[in-house]
Amino acid sequence: MKQFKHINATSVAEATSALQDNAGVAKVIAGGTDLLGEMIYWSRPNLPEYIVDLKTIPDMEYINEDSSGLKIGALTKLHDIAASSVVQTKYAALAQAASKVASWQIRHMGTIGGNICQEVRCWYFRSSSNKFYCFRKGGLLCQALLGDHRYQHSIFGGAGGCVAVNPSDTAPALVAFDATIKTSKKSINAEAFFDGFTNTVLDDDEIVTEIQIPTPPAGSKSAFAKASIRRAIDFALASAAVVIAPATGSITSARVVLGSVAPTPRLVTGAGDALIGNSVSEATATAAADAALAGNTLLIYNKYKVAMAKGLVKKAILS
Ligand SMILES: Cc1cc2nc3c(=O)[nH]c(=O)nc-3n(C[C@H](O)[C@H](O)[C@H](O)COP(=O)(O)OP(=O)(O)OC[C@H]3O[C@@H](n4cnc5c(N)ncnc54)[C@H](O)[C@@H]3O)c2cc1C
Repeated sequence: MKQFKHINATSVAEATSALQDNAGVAKVIAGGTDLLGEMIYWSRPNLPEYIVDLKTIPDMEYINEDSSGLKIGALTKLHDIAASSVVQTKYAALAQAASKVASWQIRHMGTIGGNICQEVRCWYFRSSSNKFYCFRKGGLLCQALLGDHRYQHSIFGGAGGCVAVNPSDTAPALVAFDATIKTSKKSINAEAFFDGFTNTVLDDDEIVTEIQIPTPPAGSKSAFAKASIRRAIDFALASAAVVIAPATGSITSARVVLGSVAPTPRLVTGAGDALIGNSVSEATATAAADAALAGNTLLIYNKYKVAMAKGLVKKAILS
């Protein structure tokens, strides 16, 4: 395992200065379920020498609702989000997405902040001992583009020459809810938070502190659907999150987001438009699913994801 020095931060300010003091060689850790995997397998050359622990910062783990919506501390465990009655009732797509991450054990360790900042799962990028010096690590080419891109790879083109997808399950749900990511420096709309090549738009010394979700429109419904090879402890091959208002009668607003099929969660306005003015039905769900997958640019081995993602969009709309 890559050796590192561990710093327990007691405040966001302290964590920030530890990142600044060790610029370029430090990273924060929350649950560690993603980062420590990279350290153990030594999967890339530029692993951190200093790890700044956020778990020692008090008051960053909470789920609060007020008149403006939901606020979730960045250190909140995925299990607690999945089990929260307010999230299950009013923000169902997020509770469902959190409940589908990995396993019971990982959901008890993994945080929402870590979930949206996690690294990609392309097997060339994640290869142990950095066997493949891929484009994302500073190499000259994307091995996945020319090689085996069956699973964690895009059907909507690459980002900066890399075709890995964003693997987060909660990310599409947050984009569907039009969430805001609050950091130590700013507030960013969830759709703009993700970057296909660097995962997020965070600076090296920037920390996610809170997720804010506006109160969904009255009478709305939301759902998340995921397909993976195994039913547990497996990343999505594709996922879909939808927020529709109202749930019955003529739809006035709809957000449809695809996950794990593109370098970032993909908000498809055409799919929402196919629903607006109609009520939920097999026919409108099919039209929205077709619109959601329009413009795909398949690779050789991942064509199956189109039908899969269409099915997930329909399932989420009709659930
Ligand atoms: C076997 C296995 C299966 C998995 N399956 C899934 C799955 O099905 N779906 C899924 O979505 N994920 C999956 N994961 C990925 C992931 O580990 C978890 O989803 C988890 O949420 C990551 O959170 P963490 O707190 O452990 O992150 P950490 O490992 O602590 O951090 C991950 C990354 O985020 C950064 N980071 C963490 N917190 C912050 C913050 N507050 N501000 C800025 N940067 C931060 C870290 O520097 C690091 O780069 C799986 C992981 C494993 C090991």
